[in-house]
Amino acid sequence: MQKEQVIIVGAGPSGLAMAACLNHHSIPYIILEREDCIASLWKKYAYDRLHLHLDKQFCVLPHMPFPDSYPRFVSRQQFVSYLDDYVSRFKISPLYRRTVESAEFDGETGKWIVKARNLGSGEVEELEGRFLVVASGETSNPFTPVIEGLNTFPGEVLHSTRFRNGKAFQNQKVLVVGSGNSGMEIAFDLANHGAQTSLVVRSPVHILSRDMIYLGLILVKYIRVNLVDSLMVMLSKLVYGDLSKYGINRPKEGPFFMKAVYGKYPITDIGTCKKIKSQEIQVILFSFFLPITLLHFLVIVVDTVNLIQLKIDNLIGNLEEKGIECTRVCNNNVNQKSW
Ligand SMILES: Cc1cc2nc3c(=O)[nH]c(=O)nc-3n(C[C@H](O)[C@H](O)[C@H](O)COP(=O)(O)OP(=O)(O)OC[C@H]3O[C@@H](n4cnc5c(N)ncnc54)[C@H](O)[C@@H]3O)c2cc1C
Repeated sequence: MQKEQVIIVGAGPSGLAMAACLNHHSIPYIILEREDCIASLWKKYAYDRLHLHLDKQFCVLPHMPFPDSYPRFVSRQQFVSYLDDYVSRFKISPLYRRTVESAEFDGETGKWIVKARNLGSGEVEELEGRFLVVASGETSNPFTPVIEGLNTFPGEVLHSTRFRNGKAFQNQKVLVVGSGNSGMEIAFDLANHGAQTSLVVRSPVHILSRDMIYLGLILVKYIRVNLVDSLMVMLSKLVYGDLSKYGINRPKEGPFFMKAVYGKYPITDIGTCKKIKSQEIQVILFSFFLPITLLHFLVIVVDTVNLIQLKIDNLIGNLEEKGIECTRVCNNNVNQKSW
């Protein structure tokens, strides 16, 4: 069995940041990554027009600033190139094509036993580590819900991880299912490319501009979350008005509270609201009957669930019940300590 000081699961931005910090303190580690590259979400599973939704100061990884030439909102390509440079600078070499299937804590030895499937040979490899870092992301497993009538739907169904841009959808009727940040932005992109776009909205959402979020992230370091939330809601009402007539309702709880407690992000508006107001994008309430047979395409953008994260969370709960202290080292965001 291979023995390591620290085992990191996942070579996304969080896993890489962790590796660089360990490197900085000369602590040996190994990264297990199921894909064949670092930052697969950004390299393989994101749409073309994606930019970091937050100012670069909130997304930079430890020990290496973004290049000065980068704009305030870093594009996907720029972020990928920054991460590639990061990996070279800190000499990070993940073990690719290893899917971690289980991690168990042995109370007697005080070590983690991690089992990872080698996707090349198909064999399960066992590793032992003193520390385990789960950096497997919160949106890394695409999820397609069961939708009645989908198996007889004559059009094309596409998960958002396979959506690149709206070019191919001109004049097509497209329904986007899911109104988080990706759904809103994909709907915007589709409408920009001349698709007849509709968007299914299930739950109330907060819609904030990039500048409002920037202000909120600064203020939340100094004043109470409920005060920041009141300001955010007031600004959102001033800028976007009452969106309920277009089918978008505001939650009762504030945006920063909801992020902290439920992990639910507010929507960063990059122009979708204007298109909703001008009815270029139609909002359809989730409870309504969806005449999907009238559509050409269905783009699915719903919450993704990361199973390993859930299993580890259960495990941590069990260990804590037994009085074993656990620290969650990595969060799902790059560097958003204040969220
Ligand atoms: C549209 C969009 C916009 C975003 N904008 C921002 C932003 O502006 N700022 C920001 O900070 N964040 C943003 N995010 C959040 C995004 O999740 C983070 O930027 C970042 O990718 C999270 O990094 P991570 O390393 O935690 O997770 P991920 O990037 O998801 O990486 C997890 C890695 O773990 C690997 N993995 C998963 N399970 C296993 C397993 N069992 N075994 C081995 N490997 C495994 C995956 O293959 C993946 O490479 C955005 C996300 C999306 C989708």
